[in-house]
Amino acid sequence: PKIQNKIAAGEVVERPSSVVKELVENSLDAGATEIQVNIEESGMKEIRIIDNGEGIEADDAKLLFERHATSKINDDYDLFQIRSLGFRGEALASIGAVSKVTLETLNEDSEPVKIQYDGGTETSSEPGRARVGTDITIRELFFNTPARLKYVRSLRTEAGKVIGIIQRMALNYPDVSFRLMIDGKEKLRTSGKGDLKAVIADIYGINIARLAVPVEASSPDFHVSGYLIRPEVTRSHRNFINLSVNQRFIKNFRLSQSVIKGYHTLQPKDKYPIAVINIDMDPKIVDVNVHPAKTEVRFSKESDLNQLVEDTVRKALRSETL
Ligand code: ADP
Ligand code: MG
Repeated sequence: PKIQNKIAAGEVVERPSSVVKELVENSLDAGATEIQVNIEESGMKEIRIIDNGEGIEADDAKLLFERHATSKINDDYDLFQIRSLGFRGEALASIGAVSKVTLETLNEDSEPVKIQYDGGTETSSEPGRARVGTDITIRELFFNTPARLKYVRSLRTEAGKVIGIIQRMALNYPDVSFRLMIDGKEKLRTSGKGDLKAVIADIYGINIARLAVPVEASSPDFHVSGYLIRPEVTRSHRNFINLSVNQRFIKNFRLSQSVIKGYHTLQPKDKYPIAVINIDMDPKIVDVNVHPAKTEVRFSKESDLNQLVEDTVRKALRSETL
């Protein structure tokens, strides 16, 4: 199984930022309300996530690095049916197979443990922290997969990617307080008080947040909500269109286009808005065909949704200019 883990690792954890994403999703799944992320040297030296979630029972912690030991479902179909972000039970196994891990965790029904793993094999175990939650550190990522290591070392954009991931998570979870440290410097901190506009201020600055116009609409199938910001004080482009479905960050070209189209009916065509838009829908409407990284999605009733989003953006801008 260890060899399988190593081979499959490249699919789930291609690079440090994908490790960060998987680990933070686990913290969210564990109900954490405070999540701290530290990365050193683009994550190649160290990735550490500390959360106040429910923690892991000691016996389970020993099994985490076995592939599929924890899989909740088998079918991508169910992806948006389940409430948790993780579903395959393979992220930790994959990460563990190609790194050195220290896992310290306490669940209230169990004893505290601190376990070290080296390439997925347990090397030591001792009693751990006294506080409920999980503290996981990944060191020397890809130390035993030279080709991957060389490829990842050539990447220049990792810190930026990590910032983007944590920003989007913070926008989707205003109730959770995030703190991101990169090489000892604080890059983002959100209060976790549940106010989306405050998170927008934490990310884009207070002057941008002041310009935020609420966006809201419902149809029988969809509920659209969030904020739209005209780029008066920023140079803005497509990357600032943050879309999510049922609080899960997604990429969907046509949906982004619909935001832009609605926007351009009233605004100059060379500018793009900042948008933070969540769409709640019955999970059954989200289609299969999901990328392993779980961001690229399709919808049935796609044209209805695109039209709704376009109209909603236009309406929000109109009401603002009145
Ligand atoms: P998945 O998230 O798909 O279940 P993972 O390999 O990411 O698979 O995690 C395996 C399991 O380990 C999770 O289902 C969860 O039970 C447990 N786990 C991982 N990280 C945490 C955490 N930070 N807090 C509590 N439990 C965790
Ligand atoms: Mg997971």
